[in-house]
Amino acid sequence: MAYQHPRFDAVRETDPTVADLIVAEAEREAGAVRLIASENYASEAVMAATGSAFTNKYSEGYGGKRYYEGQQVVDQVEALAIDRAKALFGVEHANVQPYSGSPANLAVYLAFAEPGDTILGMSLAAGGHLTHGHKVSATGKWFDAVHYGVRKETGRIDLDDVRELAVEHRPKIIFCGGTAVPRTIDFAGFAQIADEVDALLVADIAHISGLVAGGAHPTPVGHAPVVTTTTHKSLRGPRGAMILTDADHAKAVDRAIFPGLQGGPHNHTTAAMAVALGEASTDDFRDYAAQIVTNAKALGEVLAERGLELVSGGTDNHLLLVDLTPTAIGGKPAAQALDRAGIVCNYNAVPFDSRPPFDPSGLRLGTPAITSRGMGTDEMAAIGHWIVDVVEADGDADVEARVRNEVTDLVAGFPAPGINV
Ligand SMILES: *Cc1c(COP(=O)(O)O)cnc(C)c1O
Repeated sequence: MAYQHPRFDAVRETDPTVADLIVAEAEREAGAVRLIASENYASEAVMAATGSAFTNKYSEGYGGKRYYEGQQVVDQVEALAIDRAKALFGVEHANVQPYSGSPANLAVYLAFAEPGDTILGMSLAAGGHLTHGHKVSATGKWFDAVHYGVRKETGRIDLDDVRELAVEHRPKIIFCGGTAVPRTIDFAGFAQIADEVDALLVADIAHISGLVAGGAHPTPVGHAPVVTTTTHKSLRGPRGAMILTDADHAKAVDRAIFPGLQGGPHNHTTAAMAVALGEASTDDFRDYAAQIVTNAKALGEVLAERGLELVSGGTDNHLLLVDLTPTAIGGKPAAQALDRAGIVCNYNAVPFDSRPPFDPSGLRLGTPAITSRGMGTDEMAAIGHWIVDVVEADGDADVEARVRNEVTDLVAGFPAPGINV
């Protein structure tokens, strides 16, 4: 019989409860304006490749050096993903096996540092990631983490501050990149500091790898010998991660991923990653990456015109960090109100936040997902006004209901890729 891809009806037949939940989530994602900066809509091809026979296969090891037989096809799909990653990002080596961004970063520590070593990263409070040595993370417990932030007056990283910390603490590894950084990362500047103190520079481009791939953000390649990234954020692939390196750092990374940290790679993810990397190599994707940034700037302009404060005054990339401190409305109630109105984002700490981390002063907004739906600057203007309407309404149910209706009308005109609702 000819090949037939798994049917959704099989879920319905076996487990109607889960089938209903899948449909409900698809409807939620299709029906909302999704502004979570780390989220996207993977294409139908990526979604379909994820749910394939590769789910069933164990393949511990690397191409040609596996611990199980039956690797005739897996070796090909992993080699394809690696080749596409290398070509797209212009690197000498790619490891496509990390289960996600956090284990990819942990593998970097395992490869290039010893427990107790000093590392330097951006603080979570200023926009860094947990895995850059935050105290509640394994990386903060097992390593002596020192953190840089942003300048209060500018909301931006000041490389003189980074250099001062690097010279004082002599870190083994310096991480650049973050989760709530609205501005371009100066990879060359970081590389110079790493050089001066003989540290390894690791660029974590989890958020911006789609922009880098599409030419809408400068590349860290050539500056950071080790680059980590998720594949499911602006890169628009399956949930997973990659570590991209020069030839000198390749072996240590491979050994750290397997056998150091992980067992069998998620081959269904690898297959979907190959698809996503193929998509990201197209001119369409370059247009997409540029439009993400155009949209973020347009959204920021409306928010600022309507009086909201933006950390660093705006954006160079896909995300905006709104500082609600002057409004006296907390980030959390604002995010919850927006969710009720059909606009999904997350509350977020802002640099020098006067409120606690579980109830901070900021909202983080990102444009990768809505740009995947084909929205442009006109839609950004509408969304920007709705955001301010809802935030200013401070819980007013009538305003939230009015915006919810307008959101529903808007999204009906922009089908969500990968979700056939
Ligand atoms: C999202 C993110 C990660 C972690 O990725 P997960 O897949 O959630 O584990 C790591 N670093 C940065 C900068 C991120 O934004």
